[in-house]
Amino acid sequence: MNKTILITGAGRGIGAEVALLAAKKGYNVCVNYLKNNETANDVVNKIIQDGGTAIAYQADVSVEKEVYSLFENIEKDFGKITALVNNAGILERQSRLDDLSLERFNNIIKSNIISCFLCSKLAVKQMSTKYGGAGGAIVNVSSIAAVTGAPNEYIDYAATKGAIESLTVGLSKEVASERIRVNAVRPGFIYTDIHADGGESNRVNRLAETIPMKRGGLPSEVANAIIWLLSEEASFSTGTFIDITGGK
Ligand code: NAP
Repeated sequence: MNKTILITGAGRGIGAEVALLAAKKGYNVCVNYLKNNETANDVVNKIIQDGGTAIAYQADVSVEKEVYSLFENIEKDFGKITALVNNAGILERQSRLDDLSLERFNNIIKSNIISCFLCSKLAVKQMSTKYGGAGGAIVNVSSIAAVTGAPNEYIDYAATKGAIESLTVGLSKEVASERIRVNAVRPGFIYTDIHADGGESNRVNRLAETIPMKRGGLPSEVANAIIWLLSEEASFSTGTFIDITGGK
């Protein structure tokens, strides 16, 4: 069967690693990005050089009409997707809740939750047997912050990840009999550029001692779990979560 995967925010970090690994597993890879076409094209070129198939798609996945165009463009290029990774997400500068603006809170909700809702909705329309689809799998990228709440750092971010977890559980049950599995991963401290966006590029190293394994995680270690959840090896798993935290 032809396998096509859409990974949101796949130009760098965890999403880029998922894209590279998915190509090795035989997926046609749709590399979504927001602004940085250079890094997204690097990911695509690497996949093509290694004999895989990939296309980069610019779209802000928190904006409804852009998500509709994204799915239409992918369908023209590859047909219906069979796998979706809701990976795009943002972090803002470290702050207490009493210093957060409403504008920032709304922006985080839009980027982290609305994006997941919109892409999941269109994926279900393509995958579900209810609409004549052949089924598929969705993995949402949550965070261990959904459990810890990220006090004194990013309660707004943690709250969006909590919402994604509820969405994962509910949607998994809604579409379980329509041949769609919906799962999530909870990464801990992973070496990517998101921490620089949060105002502390050295954050993972600073916190490494607090992790039982005494080190931060690699994007590839998260990608391995995501690709497993998407695969037939996880055929009886839905509505479930994998923590990738080094024991934290
Ligand atoms: P990252 O390096 O900052 O990459 C995120 C990518 O998402 C960026 O390349 C960005 O694209 C893209 N993006 C952001 N908003 C978007 C939008 N509205 N539409 C389309 N693309 C968008 O982040 P990461 O660390 O790999 O994180 C990936 C996911 O893992 C996020 O959901 C994050 O919350 C989660 N996570 C990360 C960690 C960690 O320690 N790194 C821990 C727990 C959870 P452009 O480059 O084009 O701007």
